[in-house]
Amino acid sequence: MQRQPLVIANWKMNGDRHLVASMAEALRESAAKHPQVDVVVCPPAVLLPAWQQAAFYDNLKLGCQDVNEHGHGAHTGEHSVALVQEAGVSVALVGHSERRQFYGDTAERIAAKVNTLQASGMTVVLCVGESAQQREQEQTFVVVAQQLHDALQHVEQCSNLVIAYEPVWAIGTGLTASPGQAQEVHAFIRNWLSDKFGPAGANLQLLYGGSVKADNAEQLFAQADIDGGLIGGASLVPEQFVAICNAA
Ligand code: PGA
Repeated sequence: MQRQPLVIANWKMNGDRHLVASMAEALRESAAKHPQVDVVVCPPAVLLPAWQQAAFYDNLKLGCQDVNEHGHGAHTGEHSVALVQEAGVSVALVGHSERRQFYGDTAERIAAKVNTLQASGMTVVLCVGESAQQREQEQTFVVVAQQLHDALQHVEQCSNLVIAYEPVWAIGTGLTASPGQAQEVHAFIRNWLSDKFGPAGANLQLLYGGSVKADNAEQLFAQADIDGGLIGGASLVPEQFVAICNAA
């Protein structure tokens, strides 16, 4: 089965209403050029209503950068699955390396978030990837397998699951994994998913993230096991992001 290309914008803590308007316009104009590509935009949560109001087209979905694993209650500053769904969100990033490093996303919390999201029917984009030191020590496959195992240990069926391989050393650094390096890890992830979930696992969408730009996207997306990208910095520049969508 042919896998649908997917490109996700992760705005992190950036952007404003003006950028929502210009990005929505650019994406709508270019949508005709890439009708086969699914596009998801993950803005900061307060910009979700602005995105909801902006012009939409069929293959564009809204995503969030994180959710809380609990349903509701005394969790100051957090957003539940129900709240983000109310804001039009159907896709959630989980376990981004910045959240793992700086915001308390432990392996247990990531697994809990995956379970909560799966129960709600939302699509989970699970982020995995090794640090520079782990790569130097040739631990890449061990680290990625452990992250997959920890996050997916209670998951029995893999519908609504996407994996983003994001080597930590490539995020926001301008250092991109070479197409060969990225493909090697993607092939490993696809094998792992196939072992765990069977043919459905082998057919999941796998994204590469880490300094993807308009000028390196095509080569990365041409790799056999790379189905698209999770884009940070370049997703804040309409021409760059549209060019990346066109490359998928
Ligand atoms: P980058 O970020 O494209 O700026 O490297 C990617 C990410 O963190 O998802």
